[in-house]
Amino acid sequence: MHTCRGLSEERLVAADKDVVGEYKAFMKICFGCQNRYESQGWSCPQCHFAPALASDGNPLFAPYLAEQNEGFPTTRYNEESGNFWFRARNRLIIWALRKYFPAMKNFFEVGCGTGYVLSGIRKAFPSVKLYGAEIYSEALTVAARNVNGAEMLQMDATRIPYEGEFDVIGAFDVLEHIKEDELVLKQIHQALRGKASGVILTVPQHMSLWSVADEYACHVRRYSRAELASKLTNSGFHIIAMTSFVSSLLPLMYLSRLKAKSLKDYDPTGEFQIPFILNRALEAILIAEQTAIRAGVSLPVGGSLLAIAAVE
Ligand SMILES: [Zn+2]
Repeated sequence: MHTCRGLSEERLVAADKDVVGEYKAFMKICFGCQNRYESQGWSCPQCHFAPALASDGNPLFAPYLAEQNEGFPTTRYNEESGNFWFRARNRLIIWALRKYFPAMKNFFEVGCGTGYVLSGIRKAFPSVKLYGAEIYSEALTVAARNVNGAEMLQMDATRIPYEGEFDVIGAFDVLEHIKEDELVLKQIHQALRGKASGVILTVPQHMSLWSVADEYACHVRRYSRAELASKLTNSGFHIIAMTSFVSSLLPLMYLSRLKAKSLKDYDPTGEFQIPFILNRALEAILIAEQTAIRAGVSLPVGGSLLAIAAVE
């Protein structure tokens, strides 16, 4: 039986409790007493609260979610690294980081899965300090193996235990899974260092493309450009760049989404079982499309949206 994970009552309660505070540089937030503190570790100097640790040593900030999420597909790293869509998205993300945040010293990925994006960033930015977060603690164990020297934490994206800490935060195809997406953006804003720091996002575009694939993936929505822009602005960001991508495959996406009408007919393995030649051809198409994006074209329609925004 297919169930959507991570949308629990506990999560909503946890989200409600949090208050977005004032900026103080380089801070961790204590979930015990809301104190802000500066430390290598996660023990609050005021109330001595410290998060529980997973068996691999990663701190657990939302253990009520980690426990519900057994069975994360830990083979995802290999599937993503061989798939045209993930490979092309990595290329676009790394290009955007080089162009918009060339001086970043640290980078935090919210919803890092098994670490495929972070491993690409590690290769492109060998000296940047990397952090990754997931609600699925099993995925983090795999991510830690795939990304050298990254710090991993289990948490809920609606409750981020940092304030004023990061140069850049990324969330790649994460917001569409979360009902309180604006709360996540506000938490990301709070965790950024301030002026010159920013966020990089990818989300699926166009509700008209909604299909059982979205249901299966537990999406809450696909975004319009206007919706993503207004949610970023409401959360204190100023938009630097926004473009669609996977635009050239839009006709194919419409066709493939007509095929499966119900969750019962949907074969989720199809996403990764693409014949080798076709996989390569689709990747070449997406790389060609990125030439336009690199040249400064903002594509109006596509399977996904890329947004880069800075703290105001
Ligand atoms: Zn405390």
